[in-house]
Amino acid sequence: MDYKITRWQQELAEAFSDVETLCRHLQIDPESLPLLPNFKSFPLRVPRGFVDCMEPGNPDDPLLKQVLPLREELRHYPGYKHDPVGDLNAVATPGVIHKYRGRVLLVATGACAVHCRYCFRRNFPYGELQLSIQKLQQAFAYIESRPEISEVILSGGDPLLVNDDKLGHLLARLGGIAHLKRIRVHSRVPVVLPSRITPLLMDKLLETGKPIVLVLHANHPKELSAEVGSICAQLRQHGITLLNQSVLLKGINDDGETLCRLSEQLFAHGVLPYYLHLLDHASGTGHFAVDEARAKQIVQHMHCNLPGYLVPKLVEEQAGAAHKLPVC
Ligand SMILES: *Cc1c(COP(=O)(O)O)cnc(C)c1O
Ligand code: SF4
Repeated sequence: MDYKITRWQQELAEAFSDVETLCRHLQIDPESLPLLPNFKSFPLRVPRGFVDCMEPGNPDDPLLKQVLPLREELRHYPGYKHDPVGDLNAVATPGVIHKYRGRVLLVATGACAVHCRYCFRRNFPYGELQLSIQKLQQAFAYIESRPEISEVILSGGDPLLVNDDKLGHLLARLGGIAHLKRIRVHSRVPVVLPSRITPLLMDKLLETGKPIVLVLHANHPKELSAEVGSICAQLRQHGITLLNQSVLLKGINDDGETLCRLSEQLFAHGVLPYYLHLLDHASGTGHFAVDEARAKQIVQHMHCNLPGYLVPKLVEEQAGAAHKLPVC
């Protein structure tokens, strides 16, 4: 078959994958940084558009810190493990994580457009969860036979990295399941690779005939470039509900003022803040953790300065719990 490489696929192929190249591009001496030596798993990956939002010469840039592999990842923290949220125990059938009543997560791919060092999925056996066409049939059968499922959440990895053919097929199948009330997509792609949000993709989402909720993932106001803003406007024009979730990250967004600015900018783009997550305790991520008392202070600051609808819900995930737990 003759596959045309689209602009977003080209941009993804040109993403930074080498730490030294990234540092030199940003005019930072890699020798001056405590970089993680000789690692192969979960390599660096950052699209150029996201790098363009970073400040050259600043090793403490809040966007750079989210993607730079540091030696600190090797430090052991008590209680940090490979699958802190218990997702592997909740795999109902390959690719389907059924943890919460009425909602299932469909892991459309293990791949992501950016590799976030704080992510709990960094240690995940992606290959096993990835959906082949046969496994996809099983996944649909699972959802179809359970009328109590009202919402399918496309997740990953990042579900919007799935190519148009496969994603179109998947969405069309979901659109045909009468008991589904909504389709939700959790994706960092609109923020880190906005060119992926094409008119064709929006059409395929709308063709499902179901209300679509797109939950973005921005952690810092600097991530919201003009291009991201224009993509959000187009999504809104298509009637797609836009929400945002963030992870509270030490040295990156752990202050009330930064998060207030994030909420204001999200709203300006037609996006409402949804969740602010305490870090999941995944191995290799302990240096990003913000303690609960500080987290509550930050959210308190937001409450004192913003309308209630611009304050995200502070939550944490606990393996075995029936829902994400509010921290209050
Ligand atoms: C977060 C999550 C959901 C969705 O939870 P909401 O509170 O509805 O946003 C569903 N399934 C899994 C496994 C999740 O981690
Ligand atoms: S799943 Fe989300 S947070 Fe994790 S690496 Fe992928 S894009 Fe980043």
